[in-house]
Amino acid sequence: MDIGRINESDQPVKLSGYPKQQPRRIRQNPLLRGLTRESGLSAGKLVAPLFVTEKSQRKPQPVASMPGVVRHSVSSVAAEAKELSKLGVGAVLLFGIPKIKDAQGSGAYDEHGIVPQAIRAIKKAAPNLAVIADVCLCEYTDHGHCGVLSQPGISGVIMRKPFKVRLWRPSPHGSVDNAATLPLLAAAAVAHARAGADMVAPSAMMDGQVASIRKALDQDGFSSLPILSYSVKYASAFYGPFRDAAASAPRLGDRRGYQIDPANLEEALRETALDIEEGADCVMVKPAMAYLDVVRAVKKEFNWPTAVYQVSGEYAMVKAAVARGWLDEKRTVLELATAMRRAGGDFFITYYAKELAHWLSNKRGA
Ligand SMILES: [Zn+2]
Repeated sequence: MDIGRINESDQPVKLSGYPKQQPRRIRQNPLLRGLTRESGLSAGKLVAPLFVTEKSQRKPQPVASMPGVVRHSVSSVAAEAKELSKLGVGAVLLFGIPKIKDAQGSGAYDEHGIVPQAIRAIKKAAPNLAVIADVCLCEYTDHGHCGVLSQPGISGVIMRKPFKVRLWRPSPHGSVDNAATLPLLAAAAVAHARAGADMVAPSAMMDGQVASIRKALDQDGFSSLPILSYSVKYASAFYGPFRDAAASAPRLGDRRGYQIDPANLEEALRETALDIEEGADCVMVKPAMAYLDVVRAVKKEFNWPTAVYQVSGEYAMVKAAVARGWLDEKRTVLELATAMRRAGGDFFITYYAKELAHWLSNKRGA
């Protein structure tokens, strides 16, 4: 089936159909149906990102650049999930911070790692809340990149010139080894599935990540578990506070070697087409506010369940203005959520999920 064109000159994208594409993956899980319902704005369409850390701590640690956001322990994340569930929030999206980081990001695919522990605790505390597990390596690697490096931390060649030696230099970007990263992402997805996640969400922007995760899930008996792909993730300045929260800022270089250039829309549509072709059940545009044209284009082009992620910097920006008395918080946040729906987003990943759920429950006709 033809599901759309990237542009007039390109070939139409073909759906490969069953078993890769199974619309029932979403439909058969009652916890995910509300997220992808095609109209209305309600608490059930909100996803709360939560950080959970393996480092021993007595109480949740505040994140300085994101007022109101904390790094949870396993027990406090379960309590928070229970509260969110009571408020009718649709889902949580989990990010883990391991005790130890290494070059291979091994904490990401450890079945007893921090996110599998959190998934089990949340499922016990709040069985009616959908749990989505982020799948990436950047919180788990000591270098902070979303995949393994072809030369850990360094790349380039030693060049001898007549009078000087050019030494190994840090690569600014592009040294992430795509092929070596794929099996690790797949292993992480399987670990989260086994722990009880309702959906896995690969965010590394590695080529072929959805296909390799789909294959690994199918082989492990999870052919019904859906994938929410971060299909359109821009190399954005708005991620700064997240890296503070997850302690995941790259030690060397940046992520422009795998995330999309903010100037590009056609590339965003190509990435979405590829992910759908590889078996993504939901797609995503991230960040939100500066990319609503992209949300519109993705929705129009593919009519696929589409998530919109209002990222840490967008949240911090509103919080900072509110703290100075420059913006009305409730009106601003409701306006942004409405704009996300107007642009075509089905569900909204936002650090404001809890407040929004409160406000929506008190707002007639929201
Ligand atoms: Zn990452």
